[in-house]
Amino acid sequence: RNASVTYKPLLRSSAYIDGKWVDATTGQSVDVTDPFTGGVISSIPLLEQAQVQAAIDAAERAFPAWARTPARERGKILRKLLELINQHRDDFARLITLENGKPLKEAYGEVDYGAGFVEVYAEEGQRSLGEIIPAPVPGRKLYAEREPVGVSVAITPWNFPLAMLTRKFAPALAAGCTMVAKPASQTPLAALALAQLAEEAGVPPGVFSVVTGKASMIGDLFTKSPIVRKISFTGSTEIGVQLMAASAPTVKRLSMELGGNAPMLIFDDADLGTAVDAAMIAKFRNCGQSCIAANRIYVQKGIYDTFVNTFAQRVGAMKLGDGLEMDTDIGPLIDEAAVNKVNEHLDDALAGGAVLKVGARGEGRMQPPTLVTNVAQDALLTREETFGPLAGLVAFESYDDAIRLANNTPFGLASYVCSTSMETITRATRDIESGMVGVNTGLISTPYAPFGGVKLSGIGKEGSHHGLEEYLNLKYVCHAGL
Ligand code: ADP
Repeated sequence: RNASVTYKPLLRSSAYIDGKWVDATTGQSVDVTDPFTGGVISSIPLLEQAQVQAAIDAAERAFPAWARTPARERGKILRKLLELINQHRDDFARLITLENGKPLKEAYGEVDYGAGFVEVYAEEGQRSLGEIIPAPVPGRKLYAEREPVGVSVAITPWNFPLAMLTRKFAPALAAGCTMVAKPASQTPLAALALAQLAEEAGVPPGVFSVVTGKASMIGDLFTKSPIVRKISFTGSTEIGVQLMAASAPTVKRLSMELGGNAPMLIFDDADLGTAVDAAMIAKFRNCGQSCIAANRIYVQKGIYDTFVNTFAQRVGAMKLGDGLEMDTDIGPLIDEAAVNKVNEHLDDALAGGAVLKVGARGEGRMQPPTLVTNVAQDALLTREETFGPLAGLVAFESYDDAIRLANNTPFGLASYVCSTSMETITRATRDIESGMVGVNTGLISTPYAPFGGVKLSGIGKEGSHHGLEEYLNLKYVCHAGL
């Protein structure tokens, strides 16, 4: 494996607090392993509570000067960071594949996507414009201006170790907030690499820290702290709800990107090639480990058989293997529990009468791309997030059936519609309860658009100018006696 060639310049084994690389005061650390080989890549400190508190305190101290730094200056630092990320594109991609397991070509995609947030907010931060409000009475001037919310924290998941952080980090810093980030313990290395490059780009000490260690301890400290004014979390609905409840006493601003259970509706009049492409990417991108992955693929009766045949060929042609090989399509899943969950969904579907078309049960951390057809409408894989490369096809009769099935979930992150009828598309995008809809595409994520869900999938948006708003408070000023 030729990984050692280029990821090492970004490889860290310490946390980054107040501009310093620190190890745990107890000397304790946890290993970070490569999901493909199981081998140890690095280890990260199990920080003590006081060390995490030190990061929060440093963010508080650094806040006033950073908030007063002109947005243009902050933008320049972000642009410098963008340059550094691009210079280290190969290192970053390999690091992400090593800690997460995803195929290298997708890791490159993530680096570009992650860098995109830095690019967008380097500019967007300079456009947090205020408003002048026509006064309802004489002698007064009314205006509203945007100001940074203050110290923010980010808690990020393992499926996109870089991009899930930069979509929080970049708007936070662009807005003038400081940030303490806690990456997932499975994949902390991209976050530490980002800290290294942020330092090199000129982000001052305390403005951005990365803490590692026990999630519940760090989560408790973040939520209880009156210094922390904003929590941005991406992860499970279960943990998100806990964080929201724990943040209530200190009334924090919250952005919650939580679980999904995205439906894809393929109507009879869909273009076959377009629908198959959309399903492939929506289901199998990131080995199926994406919160906007098409979890349930509903195909109308008239196109069902042709769709199954073409889709099955494509699924069967995917290569399972080492993410570091450039032609790998599906790498290892993050851990064995992830494969067990896919197996559970597969077993349940088959027990309910589904037909195994392509693939097999997974073993260890390797889950072959798998397709089952004739899945029952109430199978486990239609109710829970599978988070793996298992596609299940469910047949439907009418438009109303499709919408009823699509909305039969407490989640509402993404959904997908494939059709060539303008009327069907317009009605479906109106009728589906979700924060995002992909029409004739399975690839919707971009830093330029507002990403986020409704219902149990969360609150708030990331990306675009809406993502900046999450880090800004609107302050109203009423100036009398004029
Ligand atoms: P996933 O299924 O993606 O691992 P989680 O919600 O468990 O979803 O994890 C997302 C992030 O939340 C990770 O960084 C994880 O370490 C963190 N996390 C897990 N438990 C807690 C907790 N009690 N408080 C704060 N963060 C937590």
